[in-house]
Amino acid sequence: MISFDKARQIVFEHLPSQMAAEEIPLTEALGRVLAEDIAAGFDIPPYDNSAMDGYAVCAGDTSGASSDHPVTLKVIGETAAGGKLGATVEPGSCVRIMTGGCIPPGADAIVRVEETEEIQNRVKIKEEVAANRDIRRKGEDLRDGQKILKQGERLRPAHIGLLASLGKDRVQLRRKPKVGILATGDELLDITAPHDPEKIYSSNNYALMAQTLDAGAEPVLLGIAGDEQNILREKIEDGLNCDILVTTGGVSAGKYDIVQDIFAQAGVRILFSKVAIRPGMPTVFGVAENKPVYGLPGNPVSAMVTYELFVRPVILSMLGVASQKREETTAVLSEGLNKKPGRFHFLRGVTSFEGKTRRVTTTGSQGSGILSSRGRANCLILLPDGPKEAGDEVRIMLL
Ligand code: AMP
Ligand code: MG
Repeated sequence: MISFDKARQIVFEHLPSQMAAEEIPLTEALGRVLAEDIAAGFDIPPYDNSAMDGYAVCAGDTSGASSDHPVTLKVIGETAAGGKLGATVEPGSCVRIMTGGCIPPGADAIVRVEETEEIQNRVKIKEEVAANRDIRRKGEDLRDGQKILKQGERLRPAHIGLLASLGKDRVQLRRKPKVGILATGDELLDITAPHDPEKIYSSNNYALMAQTLDAGAEPVLLGIAGDEQNILREKIEDGLNCDILVTTGGVSAGKYDIVQDIFAQAGVRILFSKVAIRPGMPTVFGVAENKPVYGLPGNPVSAMVTYELFVRPVILSMLGVASQKREETTAVLSEGLNKKPGRFHFLRGVTSFEGKTRRVTTTGSQGSGILSSRGRANCLILLPDGPKEAGDEVRIMLL
């Protein structure tokens, strides 16, 4: 049995290389990881334009204007949204302008339409405006050449909009690692099969599929292998075509727990098979050439927690994501916690603020088969040592 820190160190010492880049249409880029730095190729906005519907004026003309004493200007033209230059504004005149319209030469401020009254090409201005009022200047959002996104960033909706505003219809993204997911156990039934009271539905494939998608990788569902050696071996060999292989079940001390042996037969070099953590003690990790291979425990919570601890960071590293760590912080325990000595505990917790104090409580029963309690959790409580009392501060990992 090795410590959690040692296990993580071994996993990080065997990171596969970064995925290659591929060019993808922007329409499919959300949530994916950039493989190129992005800089603006021109100014945004590309020209000075109006932030409001109104009139483009010489600010000096509005001096002293109010609703009681409006100033009257001649309307010499109109500019809608777009880059076309309107007529030149000279003192005493103005141009009717729509939001986004290009500021005509000579004008240096906008009077909002609400502060005006137009009758037959003459407009009453009822407000004094300073120069630059409601003008969006060329390049005030982004300057030509300005760096805006770095490789390793995961694209969120605003990034997609930003890339579109730069006219990018395709972007270089990291290829998604393929993660083979195989459940093992004779008792398992796929969700597409009719209910059988003597079997259990295999939830691990689907929970791990979701974690894989969430991390930004591509799940390859390899289904269920019973505890029969030959089929298991065939499926595992098949799974070794993926970039990462993850199996669940068959790694404890039971008679049918043969996954580790089959890994070895399939050429996997086993690097550890027991970690001093709870849940997830019987976690197997090895490499087939440079490919990470995991035999995660079958209990649904153990499988999800060990995936989080050992698989997710590897996926993020392959994608070139800058930070592979979940956000960690401290919280005050609302209840006392017992703990088995010598094991690093990861408890499912619910954290929230009470005023300025961040508190955390467990989701209740921490049995590693109790998946429902994982569903309620929004954090893991990290207990590397010692039992804790209510009021103690603990480290938590936000999920
Ligand atoms: P094992 O690690 O094979 O000894 O399995 C431990 C426990 O997890 C047993 O109660 C199994 O029935 C359960 N289990 C194993 N694989 C799955 C799975 N794919 N989905 C849900 N439960 C599972
Ligand atoms: Mg089993």
